[in-house]
Order: sequence, then C-alpha cells, then structure tokens
Amino acid sequence: MCLDIDDTLVDFSAAGQRALAALIGRADMWPLWERVTDRHVALVVAGELDYASMHLRRTQCFLGELGVAADAEYVAGFEKRRKEQLRLSWRLFEDVLPCLDWLRAAGVLLAAVTNASGNHQRAKLADLGLARFFDHVAIAGEVGVAKPDPVMFHSVCAALGCDPAEAAHVGDKLQTDAVGARDAGLEGVWLDRYDVAGDEAADELPDGVHVIAGLDELPQLLVSEFARIGVPAPR
Ligand SMILES: [Mg+2]
Repeated sequence: MCLDIDDTLVDFSAAGQRALAALIGRADMWPLWERVTDRHVALVVAGELDYASMHLRRTQCFLGELGVAADAEYVAGFEKRRKEQLRLSWRLFEDVLPCLDWLRAAGVLLAAVTNASGNHQRAKLADLGLARFFDHVAIAGEVGVAKPDPVMFHSVCAALGCDPAEAAHVGDKLQTDAVGARDAGLEGVWLDRYDVAGDEAADELPDGVHVIAGLDELPQLLVSEFARIGVPAPR
C-alpha cells in the first residue's frame, strides 16, 4: 500500500496557510501562493530547477506579486522563517494513525510516496511519528522522476518486492495520485476529503479509479475490492 504524504496523511495545506498568514499578517493570499507554487514545482519536475532553488524562486515570485521588492537575503530569511513556522504547524489528519495501525496489523507493506523534497519530508515523517510505519519512503527528487510517471510507482513496487498489480496507491490528487497509479498498473485510490467530486460527478470519474472520503474507508476497500492484494479480513 502506497500513500501520498501531503494532504493525504498531513494536513499540509492548513499548515501552509497558517505559516504564510503568520508571516505576511493576512490570511487571503493562499490561493496565490498555491498558483505560484504549482508553476515552480512544474520546473522541478521538468528537471530545470532543484528544490532548494525552487523554494527561493517561488518565494521571490510570490513576494513580487504582493508588490514586495525582495533581495536574495530577504527572500532567504523569509523562506527560513516560513519553514520554521510550517514545522510548528504540521498536523496529522485524525484518521491517519488508526488506518496505519490497521494496515500494519494486517501485515500490509507500506510505502510513503511523495513529490516534495527529501529532507523536508523525512523530517516531517519523523516529527509526526510516522517513520516507524513505513517500509519504504519514495521521494521524487531522489528517484529522479515524479508522480504520475509510472517509473515512480514501479520503483516503489520494486522496493517493496511486489508486482504493480499487487499494490494500491492512495492520494489527494486525482490525476497525480489515483490516475497515475492506475495507469502504472496499481489500484488507484483518490482520497477526496473535501468532496470535490460531489455525488452527481460520480460517473465522470476516470474508469477504474476508487474514491474514498477518508482513510477510515481504506480497510473496507482493501478487504472488499482489492482481494488480489491479499489483505486478511480485520478481526
Ligand atoms: Mg498530496
């Protein structure tokens, strides 16, 4: 079982919003921050930037859009304070520990699969007490490819010693996580915590993608739908 980290296990958007608001003194700039971030993450995935330079360029660009003319020193200081704030703000979703406990008790091998940068994610897993649950941690910057590239999912399966058909991946991004996993031959599960899909959109979902509203629904899905993964029924 592969699990995405940000906004799947860790309420990353809420933490990011709190950290940013604390630094700039206003809470309404998160959508801008996300847009600027998406543009810059695309450059990392395309191999044009490493994460450290991306974080600085992203922050400089964001501050520029706010009308703050920031030199390199100011940007570096802002980014350092933002990361400190962020680290104080990380929280797990409430359904995470029960789900991971259940999966471990059922003997399922677990991998964390993330597109964010390595040191940051390892610190996050350690801070939140999650490191002990995972047999493998796959970080895009270290693997050299990112979700939804099938190579990312296949490298995780190889590390766990299983066939893609024996694996499932759960994440909050429909295309990056669920569709990407499905296209790589795994079971793809979209964690739609905020009911983005809505009831009426159910038949517009991509074929073969499973949807859950919380990780508390994952054990049931494993037992009922993913028999080929071979999970024993919960006791
Ligand atoms: Mg995510």
